[in-house]
Amino acid sequence: MRKKKLLIIFLFLSATLVSALVASNVFWFIKLSRSSVAHKISDGLTPAQIAKNAKPAPTALPTPKPSPKPLTFAELNSLYGPCVNLPTLYYHHIQNMDVAKAAGQQNLTVATDIFIQQMQYLKDHGYITVVTNSLTDFFDKGTPIPSGAVLLTFDDGYEDFYVNVLPILRQFGFRALMALPTGLVGNPGYMTWDEISQAASAGVEIVNHTWSHASLATNSTDLVTKEVMTADGQLTQRNYNSNKAFVYPYGGYNDYAINFLQTHGYTLAFTTIPGSTLCKKQRYTLPRIRIGNTNLSAYGF
Ligand SMILES: [Zn+2]
Repeated sequence: MRKKKLLIIFLFLSATLVSALVASNVFWFIKLSRSSVAHKISDGLTPAQIAKNAKPAPTALPTPKPSPKPLTFAELNSLYGPCVNLPTLYYHHIQNMDVAKAAGQQNLTVATDIFIQQMQYLKDHGYITVVTNSLTDFFDKGTPIPSGAVLLTFDDGYEDFYVNVLPILRQFGFRALMALPTGLVGNPGYMTWDEISQAASAGVEIVNHTWSHASLATNSTDLVTKEVMTADGQLTQRNYNSNKAFVYPYGGYNDYAINFLQTHGYTLAFTTIPGSTLCKKQRYTLPRIRIGNTNLSAYGF
């Protein structure tokens, strides 16, 4: 019994001694490492020499490519402001998917029933619809745009706007903007001037989208003149062009196109650049949000 007790005491003392030795070694190891780091930093090398001598740290993974980070509202406001958060939704065809598939228009179609749900979402969440004079007044006079405002835009003047969209807009009491290539009016699948007149009477703003739906990202100054000014004349003649807003076909523009619009009295131009912050210094390259067949909550507004 006494032998066993002594053995336990011996084992305990041995364990303590070993622990102490290990601990002191670790301590000295850390101390040495630290002093060698300190030595490296303080041995009189310039930062450039240290960088040259440094062995590159091994990288386990390829360096990630930088991804463009969207600027925040505050950043945009300081660069291009004053800015306003005005989600500008854009649509092409609104029709039943069966019809869209038969016509090969699936990619440009939001199904009518989903469109109705989207309008219901806007109504349920207290959104209001404005047209472009609100934006011009904000940029030029500082008139505030109510929070919860959106701009609904429809491109190209398709017949399904008249048949499917207009009754829904009327039902919800919503306003909208129609980007119209004036030369296509009355063609098969496009609205007639009479239908456009009914849309305008219901509060739809009709704006210039060129004459033949031509991209303004072109070197031809003649083409820009013909496309913009033919449509300008046709719209002005019908009193549809009071605020002189423009929507670029295919989202295409260049510096010449911007300058042309500006010098011919246009106050705003919309692109297909995604975003919902609209800034005064970007008034000729305004962003929009392309809406697909999904709930509007997916677009973050
Ligand atoms: Zn278009």
